[in-house]
Amino acid sequence: MTRSLLIKPNMDDFYPKAVRGSGIYLFDDSGKQYLDGSSGAVTASLGHTVPEIIEAMHEQSKKLSFVYRSQFTSDPAEKLAEKLNQLVNAETDYWSFFVNSGSEATETALKIAIQYWQERGQDKKNKILSRWISYHGITIGALSMSGHVKRRERFVPLLENYPSISAPYCYRCPFNLEYPDCQLFCASELETAIQRVGVDHVAAFIAEPMIGAAGGVIVPPKGYYEQIKEICDRYDILFIADEVMTGIGRTGKMFGLDHWNVKADIIALGKGMSAGYSPIAAALANEKVMMSIVDGSKSIMSGHTYSANPQSAAVALAVIDYIEKNQLVDRVKESGTVLFQKLANLKNNYPIIGNIRGKGLMIGIEFVADLKKKIPFNKAKTLTKLIVETARNKGLLLYPASAGKDGIDGDAIIISPPFTITKEEIDLLVTLFEETLRDVQARLE
Ligand code: PLP
Repeated sequence: MTRSLLIKPNMDDFYPKAVRGSGIYLFDDSGKQYLDGSSGAVTASLGHTVPEIIEAMHEQSKKLSFVYRSQFTSDPAEKLAEKLNQLVNAETDYWSFFVNSGSEATETALKIAIQYWQERGQDKKNKILSRWISYHGITIGALSMSGHVKRRERFVPLLENYPSISAPYCYRCPFNLEYPDCQLFCASELETAIQRVGVDHVAAFIAEPMIGAAGGVIVPPKGYYEQIKEICDRYDILFIADEVMTGIGRTGKMFGLDHWNVKADIIALGKGMSAGYSPIAAALANEKVMMSIVDGSKSIMSGHTYSANPQSAAVALAVIDYIEKNQLVDRVKESGTVLFQKLANLKNNYPIIGNIRGKGLMIGIEFVADLKKKIPFNKAKTLTKLIVETARNKGLLLYPASAGKDGIDGDAIIISPPFTITKEEIDLLVTLFEETLRDVQARLE
């Protein structure tokens, strides 16, 4: 066999070669079946090779596969913008700027926020505040906003120091407080950060409604986002929701922020937007933000060759249509409750499970060496890797995540199967996961 020249994320790691997908399963070139318990990177929300999506892609490709965004608009791109605005369901319209990845979406959101203030003659308002323990993408602007120590460290000299407040991480409260006595101190920290940086310098605050890979699914307590939004409004800074992972039904609501009844000024979408069938992502901006640009310099100073690709837009429309027709957001809520309960039941027998958290089909599990003291495993044990690899060998795909203080020293995984998972498949997922825990726990003894 000739050596593969494909560059992999980690050249030491073994990756099977996928050749086929069907429903919630993937198959490698040896015929081995994998239950896609993570929808890839929390992306393939409809599972694999859904005929309606393939059909939509095929039909669009017969009509128009590509136009350049500065020369033409297209029917699928216009319809997708309409549809997303309808889904946001706010009092004001949201306009869409299409890109190709979640990183581009958050980076575009950053640029729109800065440009918004420039249009209003406030050029100094150009800093974005964000949280430690967050991930907003891998490009330099997106990474500047990301409070992810490991992904930042090689590029620190190139990055802005945007992460400025702590995450609402109740399992390991950074202030050693308890909800509700804490009175949401973690949210009020935003006010302190704005004052420290100076309100005249702050353009926006960005947050993932539920923190994904950087924290192993961190769900803020009740009232958190209401307070965050109130602070943003009071200091007149924009609020950006990074819904790249939580958006389009993943948490049992169309958008993650819908759990808190709060609307952001700018919304970044990716992943589930096209459920992995074709690259497309978006930055959505509300009327207030967009009209300042429309009335000012008229164009957003950003864009990519593949922006608003008609084929990808047609796929995203078909994905949303499929979700709506099959009432999958409700199904996510129901299946999520069942899956969460079954996973929670494992806690009694597997003391390495420290904390289970999440909403809908976005469930994080944090592992600990000492349950009572919440002490993480020694890093040398590379526990997350061990769990993910053991599960993969058993035919179950899990998504590795960071956890622990500052998202550095802990271990976590995300379980986020496709929305279409059946009750029987949930049982199979839990059985495979339990077998994984049994093996891993035995290896640790
Ligand atoms: N924002 C969030 C919340 C994410 O989870 C991710 C990816 O995991 C990104 C942004 C970056 O998206 P992409 O990998 O498509 O660039």
